[in-house]
Amino acid sequence: MTYLVDSHCHLDRLDLDAFGGSLANLISEAQKLDVKTILCIGIDLENAKAVTDIAQQFPNVYASIGLHPSENEGEEATVERLIELAQAPKVVAIGETGLDYHYEHTPKELQHERFNMHITAAQTLKKPLIIHTRKAQEDTLSILREHQVDSGVFHCFTEEYEMAKAGLDLGLYISFSGIITFKNAEDLRATVKKIPLERILVETDAPYLTPVPHRGKANFPGYTRFVAECIASLKGISYEEVAEVTTNNFMNLFNLNRSA
Ligand SMILES: [Zn+2]
Ligand SMILES: [Zn+2]
Repeated sequence: MTYLVDSHCHLDRLDLDAFGGSLANLISEAQKLDVKTILCIGIDLENAKAVTDIAQQFPNVYASIGLHPSENEGEEATVERLIELAQAPKVVAIGETGLDYHYEHTPKELQHERFNMHITAAQTLKKPLIIHTRKAQEDTLSILREHQVDSGVFHCFTEEYEMAKAGLDLGLYISFSGIITFKNAEDLRATVKKIPLERILVETDAPYLTPVPHRGKANFPGYTRFVAECIASLKGISYEEVAEVTTNNFMNLFNLNRSA
């Protein structure tokens, strides 16, 4: 039985119209496409309750707690508040956090401050970090090195190979989204080929970034399958092998077991 994991999506933000308004239906449709476990990512302190509630509702869904670097409304993070929110059942990670200089919606200094807080919270709780990094290679790496971060993932990776290699050297995993299926993503596909499968995760980042062949339609966790199929074709291996290894990687990183 093929088993895939969507390691990063935003279940609280999905459009449920195509699924009869039901998140349960959406999750069962994802299972039909082999996606058996889903990690639902927190992006601010207001939606922390929504993502942890969803995780408690569905046996195969887990949650993370974090304040996205680009979010600039609502409650500011503190280490104590992140740790408090992460006490909810089935919270397996801290993030998404990191640096985004492409959309510099938030001043760099504040992004750095938040990133540092998330790292402290994650290291206190001994949980991995979900790291969002865009056009901020040097600063991301120097902050990670300063704190000797060795557990986490560069999610929705779109940077150059050198950045991925630096992440691998720290002990991090690299997660790819539907972007690898996009027509103009030749450079990124070349990077995928160079990253060992044993360090790759797959994700949709739904509702964003719908993969080919469903561009223009709403994304959902079931489409992780197209990401895995793309990696399989790039590496010249089977879809089943990509599913098997990336699922093992996910379970190792987040200290989980496969559910039935
Ligand atoms: Zn992100
Ligand atoms: Zn995200």
